[in-house]
Amino acid sequence: MTTHSPEAVERVEVDLGSRSYPILVGPELLATGGEHIREVLDARRVFVVADETVAGLHLPAFQRGLEQAGLRHEAFVVPAGEHTKDFSHLERLVDRLLDAGAERRDVVAALGGGVVGDLAGFAAAVTLRGLAYVQVPTTLLAQVDSSVGGKTGINTRHGKNLVGAFHQPSLVLADTDVLDTLPARELRAGYAEVVKYGCINDAPFFAWLETNGLDVLEGRTAPRREAIVRSCRRKAGIVAEDETESTGARALLNLGHTFAHALEAECGYDGTLLHGEAVAIGLVLAAELSAELGVCPGADAARVRAHLAAAGLPTSPLDRPAVAWSVARLLDHMAHDKKVRDGRVTFVLMRGIGAAYLSREVPREAVAAVLGNALM
Ligand code: NAD
Ligand code: MG
Repeated sequence: MTTHSPEAVERVEVDLGSRSYPILVGPELLATGGEHIREVLDARRVFVVADETVAGLHLPAFQRGLEQAGLRHEAFVVPAGEHTKDFSHLERLVDRLLDAGAERRDVVAALGGGVVGDLAGFAAAVTLRGLAYVQVPTTLLAQVDSSVGGKTGINTRHGKNLVGAFHQPSLVLADTDVLDTLPARELRAGYAEVVKYGCINDAPFFAWLETNGLDVLEGRTAPRREAIVRSCRRKAGIVAEDETESTGARALLNLGHTFAHALEAECGYDGTLLHGEAVAIGLVLAAELSAELGVCPGADAARVRAHLAAAGLPTSPLDRPAVAWSVARLLDHMAHDKKVRDGRVTFVLMRGIGAAYLSREVPREAVAAVLGNALM
């Protein structure tokens, strides 16, 4: 059976009724992407969206695969970076799709990290009231998180990801080889989201990461694929339960993120703290808050911190000493989080590793105490 071969491609199903789709994880998926697209879609033409960096590294291999499958294609290259996820780049991309004569049977392929996935996915959602699209994630973060679940969108001057749509892809192709060109810092940042899944509802996965995490980061194919597959299964399960974030199940994916968003906002999104790095610190703070509230064993919080530190991730705001951190300002950012309802901040807490739950009852003093300790 191919599942025993280190070269095998594994498949995770996202079970959403008529919007279901497979995630394929394994080596050489760029080269075979055209064939996989043909298996799931009656595609006429593929519009590939990539940022400049990814286009230089990986677009030719993907295009060759499309040609081999007999698919016509056209590439749209956008600048790399978070600022590309805005109205002006969305407008340009939609215009170019329409200039190229896009028709309903054409397919958009997002080849890149979360920025390209969110932008191209949203362009697909709104062009001709919805083109099919395929995610070809090239960062670890995109492979385990942003390419799965159908959230697409852009940033506005009011904040991140405030304009968008739920639009599920038809296929996700997570090629483990493309991660070889990813800068180590970006890889580690994505790894924080992998650890998050273990913390949310998969204690055995967390323990597996404690043993195999360094192999995942160092790029061994089999453990890397295993980590991506197990992460995608976790995300797919949660998304299948709560596709549009209405019951609360999907909100568990925000473990560590209430803190992370405050830390990122304080840094001004200037690259001091990548999102995944902020999530690593956020996971530690969420575990420590849970311990402070007496719901989580201190030993579990210590394990979360130790594993993230072993992976080379920051675990405290003080790992960025150049920032003039302030408890009051971090609390203020949290009070303005978009997940605030009726003035109450929703926290994801842990009863232990693998046992996350939502709480709207967290006293501000407990959050202040945890932040105060972290900044001492
Ligand atoms: P990104 O897309 O900016 O990619 C990070 C950097 O890596 C970029 O400079 C890119 O050019 C480069 N890069 C990408 N793949 C590469 C490769 N294989 N080799 C070398 N360089 C490569 O950032 P990201 O971390 O992938 O994604 C962050 C974005 O994802 C944010 O905008 C965030 O809001 C969004 N996001 C969305 C969801 C969702 O559910 N839709 C979930 C999480 C995050
Ligand atoms: Mg995240």
